Amino acid sequence: MAVSLRDSNVEKLGEHVYDVLIVGGGINGAVAAAALAGSGVRVALIERGDFAGGVSSNSSNLAWGGIKYLESHEYLLVDKLCRSRNRLMRAYPSTVKEIRFLTTIANGFRFPPFFVYLGSLLYWIMGRFATKAPRYLSARSLERREPVIDTREAAGGLEYSDCYLYDNDARFVFNFIRKSLNYGCIAANYVESLGARREQDHWVTSARDVVGATRFDIRSRVLINACGPYVDAHNARCGETTAYHHLFSKGIHLVVDRITDNKRVLTFFASDGRLFFLIPMGSRTCIGTTDTQVDSPEVAVTDEDRDFVLANANALLNLDPPLTRASIIAERVGVRPLASRGQGGVADWVALSRKHVIEVDEAGRHLSIFGGKLTDCLNVGDEVVAHVRRLGIEPPAPNHRWYGEPGPDLRAEFMLQARLMELDSLTAPASSEPLSQRFWRRYGESAFGLLERIREDERGAQLLIENAEYTRCEIELAARREMIVKLEDFMRRRSKIELVVRRSQYQHAPGLREACAILFGDQAEARLREYLDSSH
Ligand SMILES: Cc1cc2nc3c(=O)[nH]c(=O)nc-3n(C[C@H](O)[C@H](O)[C@H](O)COP(=O)(O)OP(=O)(O)OC[C@H]3O[C@@H](n4cnc5c(N)ncnc54)[C@H](O)[C@@H]3O)c2cc1C
Repeated sequence: MAVSLRDSNVEKLGEHVYDVLIVGGGINGAVAAAALAGSGVRVALIERGDFAGGVSSNSSNLAWGGIKYLESHEYLLVDKLCRSRNRLMRAYPSTVKEIRFLTTIANGFRFPPFFVYLGSLLYWIMGRFATKAPRYLSARSLERREPVIDTREAAGGLEYSDCYLYDNDARFVFNFIRKSLNYGCIAANYVESLGARREQDHWVTSARDVVGATRFDIRSRVLINACGPYVDAHNARCGETTAYHHLFSKGIHLVVDRITDNKRVLTFFASDGRLFFLIPMGSRTCIGTTDTQVDSPEVAVTDEDRDFVLANANALLNLDPPLTRASIIAERVGVRPLASRGQGGVADWVALSRKHVIEVDEAGRHLSIFGGKLTDCLNVGDEVVAHVRRLGIEPPAPNHRWYGEPGPDLRAEFMLQARLMELDSLTAPASSEPLSQRFWRRYGESAFGLLERIREDERGAQLLIENAEYTRCEIELAARREMIVKLEDFMRRRSKIELVVRRSQYQHAPGLREACAILFGDQAEARLREYLDSSH
């Protein structure tokens, strides 16, 4: 096989002195890489697992202004998140999509429905009217709109708008990694930082290639710790002390068969008083989330978590038969890394905010990124560039726009070419959208290559795995440019096949074998075995 993009990047990591090395390939690391590389800084990124393999593939997939923080009077945070959401909507019109939220307020809830509606009006105003206006709903009109909601205990409700990530969080993150690569970032997954030390004017990071089991040093002028829940652990490995540190709140989601055909997010207040969502996920529904204070970022879904989510869904919806553990197709679990100043403790926990904090050690030329949300990611990228600049790394192209989908002209050109070759007539009947839309959203300008491939051979547009919404030519493209090392990287993060297709449907599918052959060449059988033998 030809040398892969990842192998070639791993080799380059040890060969050069970088302006900046980023450790961690979740959303914070990915936007830092795209923003720095886009402004011309010589940057490298290492991730010890797969890109977005941590918290950033376990979120609720929402780009939202944080309506719930109005209750804790965090108006500045809501204002900032609304602006961030609007900026994402404008920059990613086919990925960050407005969606209606239908909220049910139960009798005896801490606020009457009309008061909650007034809150949603304030939220809409803070969102600068970028979405459709909210509406107050009686219990009867709630039921008319969505019969699956059990309105027997409902006092009323409301409908308002926010946004969600059409594909999923992990794909959103990977597209920032991909963008950074286009601008010359040297990024590699499955490369772990074992810690770093200052040597004269440089950081020397000791790295381990998890795949090849080799060790090497990476030299950089600035080091950015974007390890998410592991920021404190990595700082300890580097002798960095910080005023902030992380506390953790665990959250889970369960994916089940589609609960309703209406494409809305259903929100309730769960039995513990917290907001609880049912979010459309392709042909499925994703239900969550929990919020449990935990001491360690190493978490798993427990039976107690499952039963909490299932019991709440069953209590709030008209489901016949009710959901049981057997209904679960896939699970997601992660910890929210919450930035906290000082040494923590209970009082600290209560006062926690969901803001991100970038703590800078100027003398040591080191940045630690604490907390944050997917929604706020563009600000994190911009702030990282500004901080790095203050540390003396002058970006050659500071005003270059490093994010966003290609502009409307290129999109129109793509759609024209797709129409002329009748691409959409090749869409599989069960697909949720025409091929042209999907290709453009997932691959932007690289989607032209897919057209070329299908012009050569129409079999490129065939689905390899039923219901997976991934064609042969997309898998070929992924093999070249998406650094897929393990089959799970493809099944769970570049695509969401593992989240929306039952394992029994795909594990013996001939298409899965063919996908492996395309992705891994002569390693196909080994990668497939490794995947099927591991528990997902
Ligand atoms: C249940 C839940 C729901 C959420 N819902 C939303 C939502 O709807 N909208 C929203 O905006 N936000 C949401 N969030 C918040 C958001 O998902 C997180 O804040 C964000 O993903 C954190 O990104 P990160 O890059 O800091 O961490 P991560 O994604 O965890 O990335 C850190 C990376 O660093 C790597 N790493 C660690 N140590 C090393 C090392 N030594 N060497 C190399 N790499 C290393 C890890 O492998 C990991 O991939 C949610 C969070 C949770 C838990």
